[in-house]
Amino acid sequence: MTDPYLELAERALRNEAPTPDECAALLDDPGVELLPLVQAAFVPRRHHFGRKVMVHVLNNAQNGLCPEDCGYCAQNKDSQAEIRKYPMKGDEEILAAAEAAAKAGASRYCIAISGRGPTVQRARQLATIVRTIKDRYPIELCISGGLLSDEHAKILADAGLDRFNHNLNTSEAHYDKICTTHTYRDRIDTLEALKRNGIEPCSGLIVGMGEQTLDVVDVAFELRRLEVPSIPMNFLIPIEGNQVVGDGSLTPERCLRAVCMMRLVNPTAEIRLAGGREGHLRSLGVLALWPANSLFVEGYLTTRGDAVRETYQMIHDAGFEVEGNPLYARERDRNGGFRLGNDDEALLRPEVRR
Ligand code: SF4
Repeated sequence: MTDPYLELAERALRNEAPTPDECAALLDDPGVELLPLVQAAFVPRRHHFGRKVMVHVLNNAQNGLCPEDCGYCAQNKDSQAEIRKYPMKGDEEILAAAEAAAKAGASRYCIAISGRGPTVQRARQLATIVRTIKDRYPIELCISGGLLSDEHAKILADAGLDRFNHNLNTSEAHYDKICTTHTYRDRIDTLEALKRNGIEPCSGLIVGMGEQTLDVVDVAFELRRLEVPSIPMNFLIPIEGNQVVGDGSLTPERCLRAVCMMRLVNPTAEIRLAGGREGHLRSLGVLALWPANSLFVEGYLTTRGDAVRETYQMIHDAGFEVEGNPLYARERDRNGGFRLGNDDEALLRPEVRR
């Protein structure tokens, strides 16, 4: 009899996804054993990414002041969450954090801007920042900045932007439970505009927002259909004052199963452990390095995450390796290991309270 876990792994190596029913079972069926599932998901991960871990650093460059009502986000117009709202940071501050991220060994620096989407003027300003960072630092760049048209995408593509993040977040069927000011279709349109203009789309989901298992499966297949090469997996961080609160479904095991399912459906994509990895995966966080090949350090938009130092320790302890960037490699070789100055550490941490 064929080992069903081995069969899943072999299908993933042929870029064949499990069926939606099989995916639902991977999430829900207690008869599916966790460790063989993790090993099955590791097979395509190892094939495409070896034991390398890409580290991403996020800079929340503009906080709050958003007209949208995404109920999971502390920056939404109706949220009562206590955050310090600020307009877009100055260019020098954004550049200093890019340098700190590069020194910290990050593969990619992600600039997040709150709001429905940039104006053309703002897109041009971001394009100037992109050009400067690409000139100065050996780091890939991503912007997370809302809905984009072809006109905006072209401005950013011409500046050399590598990626733009715009998460689907949940299934089309569940979308109006989490947001009413824009639609799921708007989000797909943005991903398609990015692809038409030669920018890699980064798009993922948030698990734990009251959705059903098949909604999670549906997003995984939609990301496969769109051939999204970069998938951040968020686990809802319930923030007091937001409209979407935790639904109680997230155990560390369910989160880990969701990461494995995502890898088996999208075998060649970068799969990134994002918001909520620390609080929801908890002690199973290290096991998620087997299906996922990337993670964020230091924190997210308005919440803090594990620091660079302890995250790197976890990666090394598990026998994986930080992929880094050329600048990081020089620093690492010179110092005999990773170093980060106190000022740099402060630069990389998000602000979490008003
Ligand atoms: S997710 Fe983005 S668009 Fe939605 S409320 Fe938050 S900042 Fe605004």
